[in-house]
Amino acid sequence: MREFIIAGNWKMNKDLSEVRSFISEVADGLKTKDMKGITAIVAPAFPFLGVSYEGLSDSPLKLSAQDVSMHEKGAFTGEVSALMLESISMPYCIIGHSERRSYHAEDDALIREKLLALASVGITPILCIGESLEERDSGDTEDVIISQLEGCLKDVNIYSDKDLVIAYEPVWAIGTGRTASGEQAQEVHALIRRWLEERYSAELSKKISIIYGGSMKPENIEGLISKPDIDGGLIGGASLEAASFLKMIDSAIKIRNG
Ligand code: PEP
Repeated sequence: MREFIIAGNWKMNKDLSEVRSFISEVADGLKTKDMKGITAIVAPAFPFLGVSYEGLSDSPLKLSAQDVSMHEKGAFTGEVSALMLESISMPYCIIGHSERRSYHAEDDALIREKLLALASVGITPILCIGESLEERDSGDTEDVIISQLEGCLKDVNIYSDKDLVIAYEPVWAIGTGRTASGEQAQEVHALIRRWLEERYSAELSKKISIIYGGSMKPENIEGLISKPDIDGGLIGGASLEAASFLKMIDSAIKIRNG
């Protein structure tokens, strides 16, 4: 069975004390939950990865970085390398988020380099792809998704579910309060899974978690993750409050247990 993933992308939010209290509240809340088949992840800003890690102690809550450099080391002021993340035991890293694509001009070729940097140290990339509103309205969603997959995964070998998580994040739904319907999202998730099957194998395509992102919240999560190819969520705004994050984990447990 594929892993359900509930991942909070905190972006540039929270200070030290807010990070500490979230981690302690969620680690506490998870103690009584049956997390079988469910991975809960939060992605704090870089300065707080260390304190978050210390706050976890034996909690099943996992951490993710929000980005990584394509470079291995050297004179790249402000950048953080995959090796640095690996040295603090980071299990996941988000790459290709639409905010990085639009504010930092990241393209599929650069995102592929980041993916390879993570692969070289065994960190699982959470690869974000998704169409803009203009692309959806002009009927280009499928072409855009396939082209992003082909660009980001060109000549990249994937052997197991530890090598890749895909986040389908329609750009028009991120931070807008506008969510894709379960049907709209399922259609794209099924397309991604078919692509994985053709590009890699049927066996592998069944193992890779494909999560949805775009204004997911406690009120709409169940309608999305109950679809057959939607294996959880990458959640921005609604992941900032511990209570809301824990509610979404409860929804994942409920759907998982049928
Ligand atoms: C995101 O940033 O990945 C995201 C999905 O944000 P939000 O949930 O706020 O739309």
